[in-house]
Amino acid sequence: MDPLLASLHQHYGWDDFRPGQRPVIEALLSGRDALAVLPTGGGKSLCYQLPALVRDGLVLVISPLVALMEDQVRQLRSRAVPAACLHAGLTPEVRQEVWRSLAEGKLRLLYLAPERLQSSQVRELIASTFRQKRLVALAVDEAHCISAWGHDFRPDYRRLGEVRTLCPGVPMVALSATAAPRVRADILRLLALEKPLVQVCSAQRDNLHYAMQRRPKDPLDQVLKAIRRSRGASLIYARTRRSVEHWAKRLDANGVEAIPYHAGLDPDLRHQALCHFLEADRPVLVATVAFGMGVDRGDVGLVLHLDLPSTPEGYLQESGRAGRDGEPAQCLVLFSPGDRTSLGWAMQASLRRHHNPELEQEERSRVELAQQQLRRMEAVAEGEMCRQQALLLAVGELAPPCGRCDRCLSHLQRDDWSEAAQMLLQTLEGNHGTDARSLSDTLAELEPLRWGWLTRRLVQEELISESNDGSQRLYLRDSGRRFLKQPWPLHYAA
Ligand SMILES: [Zn+2]
Repeated sequence: MDPLLASLHQHYGWDDFRPGQRPVIEALLSGRDALAVLPTGGGKSLCYQLPALVRDGLVLVISPLVALMEDQVRQLRSRAVPAACLHAGLTPEVRQEVWRSLAEGKLRLLYLAPERLQSSQVRELIASTFRQKRLVALAVDEAHCISAWGHDFRPDYRRLGEVRTLCPGVPMVALSATAAPRVRADILRLLALEKPLVQVCSAQRDNLHYAMQRRPKDPLDQVLKAIRRSRGASLIYARTRRSVEHWAKRLDANGVEAIPYHAGLDPDLRHQALCHFLEADRPVLVATVAFGMGVDRGDVGLVLHLDLPSTPEGYLQESGRAGRDGEPAQCLVLFSPGDRTSLGWAMQASLRRHHNPELEQEERSRVELAQQQLRRMEAVAEGEMCRQQALLLAVGELAPPCGRCDRCLSHLQRDDWSEAAQMLLQTLEGNHGTDARSLSDTLAELEPLRWGWLTRRLVQEELISESNDGSQRLYLRDSGRRFLKQPWPLHYAA
């Protein structure tokens, strides 16, 4: 029997690899670097776990989140694979135990937060495991965190390249569920991957039903209805800790047992919430989006966002936590045009609060980037294209319409908005640099129309440009001036 399949069967009980896994495992075993972009639920972690088992050595895994590490360690131990993580939250006894197993060469997988790599003890560990020829590979999980273009930038990831000098020749694998082409380029460059295998699998999922709706003033009914309709587990995402607590209480009061989860809870409660989510029959968890990375529950029937997600990449990943068992699952976004505005103000405020002249330029460009990504996500939510197609396009993948989402299943009535667009552009011409709100107010006095919405459409149509600093100041583009001279039809479904 094929030795790789044999050890897959021995350790995991599976008879075959999922698409994309095998080439990555073979690359690592032959000492070659790799970049693996495999969709959520595509079995990314197996790509670096199996080489450790086949070689009876150690694989170091850099991972951004404690919850993610602990979950992986728990799953590995349930398969009798010796694994551990090192992070600041461990008790001294547990920490000692980890170092003891490392010294005895017993561990196969060690998970670390990126900032741990600064510690001299960890550096010495890498160097000594390398000298003893027991270091099989370095794995960088959620590798998109290294890129400022990614949806979850972590400055600590920028220092990962340095680790390689401690163990020359040991292959490194970078993994991510979604990474747009420019993020992939950043990963290759910043981790200095050498002649890597680049394995990219499609993020297309044929069992997810996407829907995006305007959020009414009180969306309780929609949320309850979605939960009742769903099968298995439900994940409800809210933006802030406060809103997580608020919604967990509200759902409870309405007959749905709901558990809150966010980084501000104490570790015991967090652990309980995680166990509940993994073990209860039909759990409902209200969480911030960090929850769910790497959490392995196949029958999530609903992923519901209570606000506009912050980027298409992030949303693909978050919604991808639904239906990993291949059965149909719902992904619902409730958004409001105000979401982007309020986030814009929050970003500006934090920019002012953390005023640090040295970092100012970098911070400012991050805020601008975040604004652009929000706008891309808003364009998917308000746009007329198939949801999945639009999301995949945003990460650089071309796919046909899915035939299942709310856009594919509805017949949109399109009207010509060119007259209203002329009115809007003329008004803007006389008020250059005004913000979207004031422009809508001015226009509403002339005629009651959905001016805010039309403004966003015209930004997407590239007739207007919008500032990226969060204040949403508007400017007429040259193309807008051309349109005013000689308008052409603009068909939108309102
Ligand atoms: Zn569709």
